[in-house]
Amino acid sequence: MSQNILHEYDVVIVGAGPGGSGTALHLRDSGLKIALLDKQKFPRDKVCGDGVSGKSSTILKELGLFDELFKLPHGPGYGVWMSGPNGIDLIVDSRQEKPDAKPHGAVVRRIDFDNFLYQNAKKVEGLDAYEQMTVFDLIKENDNYVGVLAKDNSGNIHEFRAKIIVGADGAASVVANKAGVAFRDPDHYVSAVRAYYDGVEGMREVIEIHFVEEALPGYFWIFPLEGKKANVGIGMLDRDMRNKKVNLSQLMEKLINEHPKFKDRFKNAKRLTNIIGWTLPLGSKRRKPYFNGLLLVGDAAALIDPLTGEGIGNALLSSKLAAQTIKKAFELGDFSEKVLKMYDDLLKEKLDPELQTMYRIQRLGSIRWLLNHFFNRVNHKRELKELITSTIVSEDTLKYKKQLTDPIFLIKNLFL
Ligand SMILES: Cc1cc2nc3c(=O)[nH]c(=O)nc-3n(C[C@H](O)[C@H](O)[C@H](O)COP(=O)(O)OP(=O)(O)OC[C@H]3O[C@@H](n4cnc5c(N)ncnc54)[C@H](O)[C@@H]3O)c2cc1C
Repeated sequence: MSQNILHEYDVVIVGAGPGGSGTALHLRDSGLKIALLDKQKFPRDKVCGDGVSGKSSTILKELGLFDELFKLPHGPGYGVWMSGPNGIDLIVDSRQEKPDAKPHGAVVRRIDFDNFLYQNAKKVEGLDAYEQMTVFDLIKENDNYVGVLAKDNSGNIHEFRAKIIVGADGAASVVANKAGVAFRDPDHYVSAVRAYYDGVEGMREVIEIHFVEEALPGYFWIFPLEGKKANVGIGMLDRDMRNKKVNLSQLMEKLINEHPKFKDRFKNAKRLTNIIGWTLPLGSKRRKPYFNGLLLVGDAAALIDPLTGEGIGNALLSSKLAAQTIKKAFELGDFSEKVLKMYDDLLKEKLDPELQTMYRIQRLGSIRWLLNHFFNRVNHKRELKELITSTIVSEDTLKYKKQLTDPIFLIKNLFL
């Protein structure tokens, strides 16, 4: 027989991916009583390219976890290899300038990466972790969110009450949905598929982003793991996929088997897993992430980079900003929107300029002749190549990304 079980906490975090485990880790010195709930049992997989970028690395360093990352099975990340629809390559590898450069990121399977974060989050004092606990509703009283309802494996219903709920339950967020802010705009959603391969030739310990004609402004990726193993996938804007009636799995297999740039590299490769897909809510249209007693982080808040599809770094960054806001709210003893708006202000300051810049580059990238022209010029224009390098390997990547959308810079470098 099912039972109703009551739990009381200061903070309830729904979802233990990078957004949820990140929030818990950033609250580790808060002294708060925290419940971290996930519907799955860890270690669990998450469909992803597995690219842990420089932004994620910065936050892992702050949390003291960066060095540990490299103890997980991984492919080191020294830069990016991009190509245009015309097939021209641009390779940015930090070892070109500095042969002893350290990797600034890595490719780590999410089954390992998320479990690593989650196991560290479980060590946070005052935290109770609940796996196989599926949240299905929010509890709202007098216009305040005061808890969540969840079901365990045996069918028991649990009521988790708290001063603040954090929705970190990913792209299909129940929390964002129940708060009334989840909508799927095909101009601001990407669908993507991936599979693991072994025997891929010609990889260089840099992530590969190939802007193939069929997917623009999306791309086909090869993210190198250990040896000749790789995470391989393709992503496309929902609107384009619908208009062009594309089947992503078929397109990916066609590129691997027939595209002149890839077919030889995959000649002896073996697919190790099924091709599976998931969605990416882009930060080019992010949602309201704060309510009375409730915050949304990571994919639940729609924070994915609109050009690169990177979401782990933004989930971690948002978890840090959410934790700052939560600490402030407990200091003030006020959990209303008035105080929790601080989180949105921090996102506006720390993330929106980058999301908007990357959206502008994504829009420019959808113009095929312009993208081809860019790849024609980039290897011959030192200033342009240096700028691209800086957008990938520097500490302040935003400064350089902004320059990439500056019309004067673009005219000078692309047309003069
Ligand atoms: C194909 C693909 C490729 C990608 N490639 C990259 C990449 O290479 N690099 C990168 O940085 N980003 C990439 N992304 C984006 C990245 O995967 C996400 O942005 C990131 O996982 C967001 O983290 P999160 O914690 O917000 O959500 P998630 O990682 O999705 O975690 C959400 C957690 O919530 C749990 N949950 C969900 N619903 C409930 C519920 N009702 N009750 C309780 N728990 C629940 C889930 O089990 C899960 O553990 C990719 C995405 C896709 C789809």
